[in-house]
Amino acid sequence: MDKKTLIEWDKKYIWHPFTQMKYWLEDEPTIFVEAQDCFLKDIDGRWYLDGVSSLWVNIHGHRRKEIDEAVCGQLDKVAHSTLLGACNEPSIVLAKRLVDLLNEKLPAEESLSKVFYSDNGSTAVEIAMKIAYQYWQNMGMKEKDTFVSLKEGYHGDTIGAVSVGGVELFHEVYKPLLNKSIQAPAPYCYRCSLGLNHPSCDLACLNEMEKILKESLQRVIAVIVEPLVQCAGGIIVWPEGYLRGLRALCDKYGVLLIADEVATGFGRTGRMFACEHEGVIPDIICLSKGITNGYMPLAVTVVKERIFNAFLGELNERKTFYHGHSYTGNPLACSAALASLDIFYKDQTLENLPPKIELMKDKLSEIAELKNVGDVRQKGMIAGVELVKNRKTKESFPYEEQIGWRVVKAARKAGVWLRPLGDIIVIMPPLVISMENLERLLDVIKECIIEVIK
Ligand SMILES: *Cc1c(COP(=O)(O)O)cnc(C)c1O
Repeated sequence: MDKKTLIEWDKKYIWHPFTQMKYWLEDEPTIFVEAQDCFLKDIDGRWYLDGVSSLWVNIHGHRRKEIDEAVCGQLDKVAHSTLLGACNEPSIVLAKRLVDLLNEKLPAEESLSKVFYSDNGSTAVEIAMKIAYQYWQNMGMKEKDTFVSLKEGYHGDTIGAVSVGGVELFHEVYKPLLNKSIQAPAPYCYRCSLGLNHPSCDLACLNEMEKILKESLQRVIAVIVEPLVQCAGGIIVWPEGYLRGLRALCDKYGVLLIADEVATGFGRTGRMFACEHEGVIPDIICLSKGITNGYMPLAVTVVKERIFNAFLGELNERKTFYHGHSYTGNPLACSAALASLDIFYKDQTLENLPPKIELMKDKLSEIAELKNVGDVRQKGMIAGVELVKNRKTKESFPYEEQIGWRVVKAARKAGVWLRPLGDIIVIMPPLVISMENLERLLDVIKECIIEVIK
């Protein structure tokens, strides 16, 4: 189909996510038609280096033969069968593989051992929230009805997930619809809400968290966080020790810890899961985005054995988890995920990361010197560059200036595909990216910041 018609129909029929459609309708959109490795091709034949992993989902590059073949192989067997009252092979094997991966070095009683399937990050979080709530109900703790989350947190866009979200711009308008939740300050050191500096603060934000837990203990179901990097809130990288401290507080007050590793999972932070950096085991973990290398919608919520056990009982005890989706445990998606896991071993994906992480660090330190760069933050292969109007006062650019978008548009002209978060330039390339392409990615970002801010 010709480009003109496609654009006409897109504008006529599609409502794009997170998009002010008034502007969309005035602009010319990019239509992607093909991809290879870390590159995307648009309908005019222009190739872009993919600096944001196809919105944080791609790990091993596009068009991986192994995953293509796994999905095609599964297509020759069955594309859909339900987990409601039945099983299928790929979902069984994948659950076993994920549990093994999550618990490589853990004692059995600590292990995350039961996998609940769904199809996106938001539903993985909804499931975690419902399980956590019902866990206490089943345990006879009927008064627990509140989650604790962090400011600047992002857990997805369904109502439950928005209830524990802390990004004003996205979440404010829905407040009247939301469930009970309490927000603790984020460990956002560059803009510390307590007005302190790290490390002299001695992680004072953990004391705020403790205050909340102590005051509301009777009602708190769980603390839900994005461990180590609060991605959508602006690539907020936590200071070392916060996650470990948070785990200790959850243990001290006997509340559950839910780790939303939808974005950080599958190697992004340099380890398979972000929690590993601080030796923390959550009670519930949510995974999605990278799980199928972006091939198919799939998510899992994995819980500890003791949580699962609290749902066992006679029918009339009403302990059953009444939740499920039409595409739960979809065999095509699970076969893509299995092939993607295999590539981690075959490519030595994690083993190959350290030099790339170092290169990113070196290049980011150059970017940090630029006039309007307030902060650069990095954890593994995730980075954010926060642009500010005034470095001294940390004053932001006026929202209307759309400074992040202007840098991203310049990068697109230079053949690099990015998507900012407000004034923060997000850098999250596929882990498979070569040293040469990574260097180019960061050089282009640097040049575009210079060009736009002049
Ligand atoms: C993207 C994201 C979600 C939501 O996932 P969707 O698949 O977009 O619903 C949830 N939590 C985190 C941390 C995310 O980054």
